[in-house]
Formats: sequence, C-alpha cells, structure tokens
Amino acid sequence: MKTSQLLIPTLREDPVEAETVSHRLMLRAGLIRKTAAGIYTYLPLGLRVIRKIEQIIREEMNRAGAQELLMPIASPAELWKETGRWDYYGKELLRFKDRHERDFCLGPTHEEVITDLFRREVRSYRQLPLNFYQIQTKFRDEIRPRFGLMRGREFIMKDAYSFDSDEAGARTSYQKMYDAYTRIFTRCGLTFRAVEADTGLIGGDVSHEFMVLAETGEATVAYSDQSAYAANLERAEVLPPTDIDDAPLRHLTPVTTPQCRTVEEVTAFLKIPPRQLVKTLIYNTGKDTVAVLIRGDHELNEVKLARLLQVTEVRLAESEAVKSLTGAPVGFAGPVGLPGVRIVADHAVHGMKNLVVGANRADTHYMDANQDRDFKIDQFADLRNAQAGDPSPRGAGSLTLAKGIEVGQVFLLGTKYSKSMNATILDEKGQERLAVMGCYGIGVGRTAAAAIEQNHDDKGIIWPFPIAPFHVHLLPVSQSTTTAEATARLYEDLLAGGFEVLWDDRNDRAGVKFNDADLIGAPIQVVVGDKGLADGVVEVKVRRSGVKSRIAPSDVVHHLRILSATTA
Ligand code: ATP
Ligand code: MG
Repeated sequence: MKTSQLLIPTLREDPVEAETVSHRLMLRAGLIRKTAAGIYTYLPLGLRVIRKIEQIIREEMNRAGAQELLMPIASPAELWKETGRWDYYGKELLRFKDRHERDFCLGPTHEEVITDLFRREVRSYRQLPLNFYQIQTKFRDEIRPRFGLMRGREFIMKDAYSFDSDEAGARTSYQKMYDAYTRIFTRCGLTFRAVEADTGLIGGDVSHEFMVLAETGEATVAYSDQSAYAANLERAEVLPPTDIDDAPLRHLTPVTTPQCRTVEEVTAFLKIPPRQLVKTLIYNTGKDTVAVLIRGDHELNEVKLARLLQVTEVRLAESEAVKSLTGAPVGFAGPVGLPGVRIVADHAVHGMKNLVVGANRADTHYMDANQDRDFKIDQFADLRNAQAGDPSPRGAGSLTLAKGIEVGQVFLLGTKYSKSMNATILDEKGQERLAVMGCYGIGVGRTAAAAIEQNHDDKGIIWPFPIAPFHVHLLPVSQSTTTAEATARLYEDLLAGGFEVLWDDRNDRAGVKFNDADLIGAPIQVVVGDKGLADGVVEVKVRRSGVKSRIAPSDVVHHLRILSATTA
C-alpha cells in the first residue's frame, strides 16, 4: 500500500501522557489514538498488527480443535446473578439499564454467557469435549487504565471455554490450550514464559499465565535457575525455613525509638540487622481485623494473605483504626498485649528468638520479645513474597526474579460455573453430571504492546516479522523518473513474491522517510535512489541489526526471502 493512501499520523515528539515505551511508540508511529481514558481507536497500521495476531491465534485455536463463535458484548444481569458475580465483580463490571429498566452489563469475560449456551444446547457426553472461542471486544472499568493498549478499559480479547465430561478430560483440554498458547506466542516472535498463577476473580483450581519477559512488566515472575519451576510472584511458594534459632531467651525490654516507624529507621537506630525485627501489619478483610507478622527484611504477599483468610481482598487498616486498636500511632504496632485480634505470622517468624517488635506505645519498641512467653501466634502460613536466592519450592535450584507482562492466562475451572448455573450432561449411564470446564484468555492489544516493549530501540519499533504491519518499507529517496519506475517495478515484484509492502510515495526528504521507517518498524527497508540505480543496486536494510546490503533490484525478492527466514 502507499503511504499517501493511509492515515499514518507519526509524531516527532514524545506525547506527554505516555509513560511506557509501547504506549509512546504506538502513539508516535500512528498505530492508535485515544478516544477516552482507556478507550482507543486503532488506526490502519495498528489494526494490521491486531489482525495479524488474531490470525495466528485463530489458526492455532482451530488447529487445537476449538471452534469459533461470537457472543454478544451486552449480557443480561440474570446470568451474572446466577453465579453471584453481579455483586462479586464490583465496579469493574460496567452496568447499564435498557429502556425497559432491565439490568445489563458489558462483558468483561464470558463464562456466564457460554455456560448458558452450553446448558441449553448440549445434552450428552457424546458431544464432548467441546471448546468454543471468540475474538471480541471486552469492557472492564479498570480503576487505573494506563499504558495505552496494555491496560485499557475497552480491549480485544480472545477467550475460549472448554467443556468435558470429567476431570481427566478437562485436564487434556487444558493441556491442549497450554500447548496452543505456547505455539501462538512463539509464532508471534516473542520471548515468554508460562508460569503458575493465582486464579483471582475467575476462580478455579489450576492456572498458568503466559508472561512476555520485559523490564517494564507490571508482574514479577520467580523461576528456578535449575528446574522448570516458574510462578507469578503473587503465587510463588516459599518453603518454611529449616533453621531454628536456639539462642537462650532474654528478658523482654522496652526501648525508646523516637520517631522510628519504618524497619529501616528502627533497625538503624537500634543498630540491628532488619532480619532481627518483626513487623506487625494490621489488615482489614472487610469482615474483621488481623495482625500479620513478617520478618523485617521480607515483604508481605497480600494475595497469599487473602487466600489464607478466604476473602477476595485485604487492605491495610487506616491509621485511625490502627490507633484505636493498638493505642499507638502507625509504626509502633506489635503482638505483645495486642487485644482481641487474630495474629497470623509468616513461617520465617517461627524459628526466631529475641525479636524486636513494636510496643503498641508511641516511640517505643520491645527488644527480646519471644513467642509463647510474651505473645501467642494463632497461625503460621506462607505469607511472604519469594526473594531471589530462595530455594525453588519444587525441583532443584534457587529462584531468580524477572519482570513480565501477562499476555494470556489459562484456567482449569472445574465445576465452579457449571454448578452455579446447573450445566449438566448425561453420562454413559444416562445420569446427569456437571460439565467440567476450563477457560483461556489472550489479550490481543496487550500482546501487540508487549511485543513493542520487547522489541524496540531509541529510534522506534522493531516488529517481529510475523506481526509487523508491513514486512517491507519501500523508500524512494529521489524524485526522478528512473527512481519512480524502479520503485514501481520493485513494488510489484515484492507483492508478487508474497511480501506486504508499505511504499512511501510522499515527496518528502530522505531523512523524514528514514525516521518514519525506523519509527514504524517494518523489519526490512528497501531504499531506492538514483545513485544506487546508476550502480545497478538498491539498498536493503535490516531494521533490527541496521545491516545494509547493496542488492540488484532483480535479486531483491530472493534476498528478502532469505532475510525473512533468518535475521529479520
Ligand atoms: P490483569 O491481572 O493484568 O488485570 P487479568 O488477569 O484480570 O489481567 P484475564 O481475566 O486473565 O486478565 O484476561 C485474559 C487476558 O486479557 C490477560 O492475560 C490480558 O492479556 C488481557 N487483559 C486483561 N485485562 C486487560 C486490560 N485491562 N487491557 C488489555 N488487556 C487486558
Ligand atoms: Mg489473568
């Protein structure tokens, strides 16, 4: 296609609202424009990338035996009330009423709608397994939409739902999707890792997230340096320590710690290492209040805490609540004499002796506090974030941490939805059984954004070949008839050779064209100019390496075939 026929509004300056590389480059390269917070219009180049990713997804889903359908974006409240998610989903669910005052929402995910279809249309185990997918616009009223397509409110997702007559079948369906995802992200040209994941609002028993590894990722991945273990930090298990401090117990002693609230301040003031202090965090579960003990050099994991307490979300108590509970300002809470709350502690606290803890009095801590003698812990659990160097909870090796972007997630749901919606089938014996389900999502726009986070330089995007908006950017750099004719011939040859070509037919200076080409990031650039043509060559540049070769126009297609299969 010709540049003059496409709207490609490239920007020279960095847009101020863009905080991440992919957001900045998507705006600058003219791929997207914001319509409202978290809501974008895909411009022609952006849409080409989206369609390519969708096509790869479609091919691999079909290959894995899934069938495509398309569900509505608006769904009636009744279905969501059946599963309880009308209330449970909270504000992310965008609700509205139609003219008859009936409640609806915009689908953030489609378990309810597909399970309703299934229970009405499928009767027998003989029809299973079934796996339905769609590629469709989702709406989630995210509290903080940001980073462009990475976390939008309206976004395109591929979602799939499998139905089996038993657990073993469901596991096979899950594995097929896991394998399909592996092929999809490999084919997109991305460096990624599948990691064990928490199941969050979707629910279920087993789940993996597919993480594109990139510095700017919002998620942290913990993986073993010697075995296959890999997990989202939210989920990564920490083994209880095996060492127990056998120091003799010393006397409980209050010490003044003026204005020392944080672990750093207290331990610096007392000249002790942070690992000798235990911090006491007061948490609210919505139902009640708990005190959580964590070693000073460790970080509490709120997902683990919520799971232990069997609630969806936990929040640090407000300072007023802390004050009325402990009688002291925030920063001095401790387990000694703490009235009437459940105290839970991370495993690491178990073997510790002679702790430093808050004294529930302003500007005061206790030295040499000891469990059982001075305070009681109701329950020990794995409550902290894994750290680099921790032993891998399964398999050999120790853990390394890396940043990742979640582009897809697969869930083994079990009967969570079929039970609440009574989606049954008749088994071999003619008895009713709940269908066993799985669900599987991929963020299409987020995958495009993640590809840019992983593939760019200071000049612009470097698209992996399979998802590039165009394979070749054809750049005539003089206005002469010779160049125009040679360019037109090359354009036809390249199209005939199966390449997608963007022909910069504008009367702009070479510098402008080169800058735009580097920004837009087609993997290969072909520069046509009078000087080269006089020598019988054009210049072929590989965007990623910057390597340029002088090639006879008649050899260009052959040369690009080799390049596209290898370096680009
Ligand atoms: P996150 O934890 O990032 O909010 P999620 O776990 O809630 O995402 P899922 O329900 O697993 O998301 O949705 C499947 C996929 O849809 C995600 O893996 C992600 O790629 C994509 N996705 C989810 N929320 C958004 C969003 N707000 N904007 C763009 N893509 C999204
Ligand atoms: Mg997810």
